Amino acid sequence: MSKKIAVLPGDGIGPEIVREALKVLDCLRQEFGVAVETEEALVGGAAYDATGTPLPPETLELAKAADAVLLGAVGGPRWEPLDYSVRPERALLGLRSELGLFANLRPAVLYPQLADASTLKPEVVSGLDILIVRELTGGIYFGKPRGVRTLDDGERVGINTLIYSESEIRRIAQVAFDTAMKRGKRLCSVDKANVLECTELWREVVTEVGRDYPAVELSHMYVDNAAMQLVRAPKQFDVMVTTNMFGDILSDCAAMLTGSIGMLPSASLDEKGKGMYEPIHGSAPDIAGKGVANPLATILSLGMLFRYTFSDEDIAARIDKAVEAALDSGVRTADIWSEGTRKVSTAEMGDAVVAALRAQA
Ligand code: NAD
Repeated sequence: MSKKIAVLPGDGIGPEIVREALKVLDCLRQEFGVAVETEEALVGGAAYDATGTPLPPETLELAKAADAVLLGAVGGPRWEPLDYSVRPERALLGLRSELGLFANLRPAVLYPQLADASTLKPEVVSGLDILIVRELTGGIYFGKPRGVRTLDDGERVGINTLIYSESEIRRIAQVAFDTAMKRGKRLCSVDKANVLECTELWREVVTEVGRDYPAVELSHMYVDNAAMQLVRAPKQFDVMVTTNMFGDILSDCAAMLTGSIGMLPSASLDEKGKGMYEPIHGSAPDIAGKGVANPLATILSLGMLFRYTFSDEDIAARIDKAVEAALDSGVRTADIWSEGTRKVSTAEMGDAVVAALRAQA
């Protein structure tokens, strides 16, 4: 039976980069007999303009009914003056919570062809291939009580609550161990157990879950040290698992090790492996409509979709290889261009990946 992907291009460069991922999907259908249907819907600012809300009910229904969601990006200066409740970015939070997407997987891979793009020395980052598993629907971003209050003496206080239940920790730990089993079988759990009791429990529960995965080498690290180690010697890591806020910060840090925001995909998964897949970058309003955006993060997100939701490692690996082959052929979008390579448009980069896929057929 054919599977279905809900396609939500969004705003800014979103439609341009998603178009290239759909070209790749077309090629997979033609050359490799992949049976996948797609249906598009509005999200973000585009949805707000058309319907008055960034996540219309039809879009949410489509996302719920589909096997997976492929998203471009949302947001832009045009919608910044809007009330927080209808800002384009609210659609992402709505999708994550409505679909129960509690596990965010962000690989940071440095392609040898792009070793010069990193701000770190090539010997520190070349061959880098790490994956950060971030808890996405709990922790301090959602904990209650929260808010800003005025005390009796007139002093204002800001409050947020870091809270994790055992079951929330257990399910993200399981995703992290399962992911580590598919990779280098090393997992580093990041916490602040020396100061925060909540993450003392985190450490305890992750250790307990680890007993079911004797093949995975588990280590623990305090978040301040992890930030330092990511910059000092990032290749020591294989998979890292951490809380919502620590993951937010560390995954951006890891992303920048690769020096190219346009190359990094992500997956957000629910308990059954259904997921939403999107590049980690935003809608890049500064380059939208110019045909220069890098579509590779979105194409690699499609690869993750095949790997994690469709459990089709063969197609996922074909997409990864085609991206590498396109880079090997010397084409580069402006964000990753360097002397001696050929600068191409968004569409030409998509075409190069499609050509590389056809060459595999
Ligand atoms: P951004 O990621 O959109 O852009 C940061 C810089 O990276 C810009 O210079 C941009 O041109 C460049 N860039 C990003 N993606 C690129 C690509 N594929 N190819 C080439 N260059 C690329 O971040 P920002 O400028 O801080 O945010 C812009 C808008 O996107 C804001 O409204 C923000 O809220 C939104 N945003 C959305 C998401 C999302 O949809 N998941 C994530 C982050 C930011």
